[in-house]
Amino acid sequence: MRFLPVFLDLKAGPVVLIGAGELLRAKLRVLAAAGARIRVHAIDGNHDLSLSSADATRIEVVSGDPLTADLSGVIAIVCAGAGDVGVAMSARAKALGLPVNVMDDLEHSSFIFPAIVDRGEVVVAVGTGGTSPVVARRVREKIEALLPARIGELAEFIGAFRKSINERIAEFPLRRRFWERVIDGPIGAAVLAGRKGEAEAALGKISDPSAFARAEKPEGSVALVGAGPGDPDLLTIKALRALQDADIVFHDELVSPEILDRIRRDTARIPVGRRVGRPGIGQDAINKRMIEAAQAGQRVVRLKGGDPFVFGRGGEEIEALRAAGVAYSIVPGITAGLGGAADFEVPLTYRHEATRITFLTAHKARDAEAVDWSTLTDTKMTVVVYMGMTAAPAIREGLFAAGRSPETPVGVFARVTRPDAQGAIGTLRDLPELVRRINGGPAILIIGDVVRHAGSLRRETSEKTPKQIISDLLDAAE
Ligand code: SAH
Repeated sequence: MRFLPVFLDLKAGPVVLIGAGELLRAKLRVLAAAGARIRVHAIDGNHDLSLSSADATRIEVVSGDPLTADLSGVIAIVCAGAGDVGVAMSARAKALGLPVNVMDDLEHSSFIFPAIVDRGEVVVAVGTGGTSPVVARRVREKIEALLPARIGELAEFIGAFRKSINERIAEFPLRRRFWERVIDGPIGAAVLAGRKGEAEAALGKISDPSAFARAEKPEGSVALVGAGPGDPDLLTIKALRALQDADIVFHDELVSPEILDRIRRDTARIPVGRRVGRPGIGQDAINKRMIEAAQAGQRVVRLKGGDPFVFGRGGEEIEALRAAGVAYSIVPGITAGLGGAADFEVPLTYRHEATRITFLTAHKARDAEAVDWSTLTDTKMTVVVYMGMTAAPAIREGLFAAGRSPETPVGVFARVTRPDAQGAIGTLRDLPELVRRINGGPAILIIGDVVRHAGSLRRETSEKTPKQIISDLLDAAE
């Protein structure tokens, strides 16, 4: 390691910045964003640095020769686009023992700038020893995606309580355990979820911090996580994190194997869902097992296809968790209707043409009979039907009876966002036939004029565009 990452105290004094043009302005932005006091020498004489009034109080534009300027009290020298002046400045800085950076010039630099992840009190610096700023930026992007957005707030929260808690715990290892428990438990989760008041109250309730740190059993919790419709890249960052942190995962049958692959290897995975022709363990049993696992101190993930609150029984599960006093959180996912719309390029709303969306479930024909179809006759309403495959004939009859035109465009989209996704497009009249063309797997129906805008059905054998398919059908009907 040639360059050791250290953090410079910007309160200690001003940074001198020397250079010209856009390179100078770019460094000025970095230093200003960090809150530095800056003395700028624009050696091209262009002093128009478009400073905001907030920055102007900390930034001083000076005109004299930087090679002879007074450097007492200065904490670092930065040259960007300074040419030979940078090299000369480097010699001067080194003679004075001042840290110096000459942009893109390792030979004349005694420090270099890392790529920075800035989350308030939490700052991550990424360096590549000056070899590749692009690699450093890629690493930074990966870290950005990994870190919770409020990690800085968590550090600040702990900072605010550290002194008072540490005074109450004598042994150092126990202090560390105390903070680990806080960070990994519901208090940390509350701060990361933006519920600081709740976290403060919970911390305040800990009457004996040493006992809390010593407690054998950490507090468990349940996260209700939406896995999306199948493509693992559609998992949210929060969902991914929950899967990585979980001690045990209870998952639906619908969750794709590619997503189950993202669970930490040593985590128990328990399938609890129903499958066609095979009953699951039942909702009460699922609730009971989740609660037991959380009460035993485990971090439980309840992983559901799509979104937990869209035909996912998430509502019933949180009621059970509330009743049991178990801490829980909800991580939304991309519901199958939205995944299917994106996958087959069906805009669910469209200016003037579709101004409302209804998500509907029609599990069985008798459920379909229970639906009040008269609320679905608005031609500007897009209807997305879940669990509607076996009930397709009843759905068609219901919509006909309510007065929807047999020519209403319809798409049946199966296994959406998965590599073997399949679509069939036509009109309401031939809905049961469209359903027969699908080779199994979960599917949604999208009913409404917007289906006309669907992108080409790459995965269908037909070479025709959706628009052609529908207009041919309508011609044939006339
Ligand atoms: N909570 C889930 C829905 C569960 S109900 C969500 O938000 O998506 C199960 C129904 O969802 C299936 O019958 C089917 O209609 C739909 N579905 C789930 N995954 C799907 C997929 N990959 N492709 C098409 N439809 C899907």
